[in-house]
Amino acid sequence: MGNARNSNILRPRLASAWRGFRCALRGLAADMAHHDPHDGRLRGRRGVKQRARRLAAEPLCRDCVALGLVVPAAVPDHIVPLAQGGKDEDDNIRCLCAEHHLKRTAEQFGLRYRAPVGADGWPL
Ligand SMILES: [Zn+2]
Repeated sequence: MGNARNSNILRPRLASAWRGFRCALRGLAADMAHHDPHDGRLRGRRGVKQRARRLAAEPLCRDCVALGLVVPAAVPDHIVPLAQGGKDEDDNIRCLCAEHHLKRTAEQFGLRYRAPVGADGWPL
């Protein structure tokens, strides 16, 4: 039958086109997965790598250094927050310790920073 012969010729081509299409879709999905659609922040493994690279570039908390203290940085912080239109680029990054990160974030979002308090009511 002519039909059967045609489909035997077409089948490998169809399969290959379908594989190509699925590959393209996967690539698109992967691209979308790397950057958060809301703030452009890198996500996933690339985000982890970028964070490590930024901490390695500035291993001490910038605000502590300004106070004459030597404290390891824990967080690469966006100087202009992404939520306020800042870019996820190295020149918008300063590395901070956890406490200064909380302080800066509170300032940037108009909140009052409260020092952590222990069960006895004294600051930690
Ligand atoms: Zn600090």
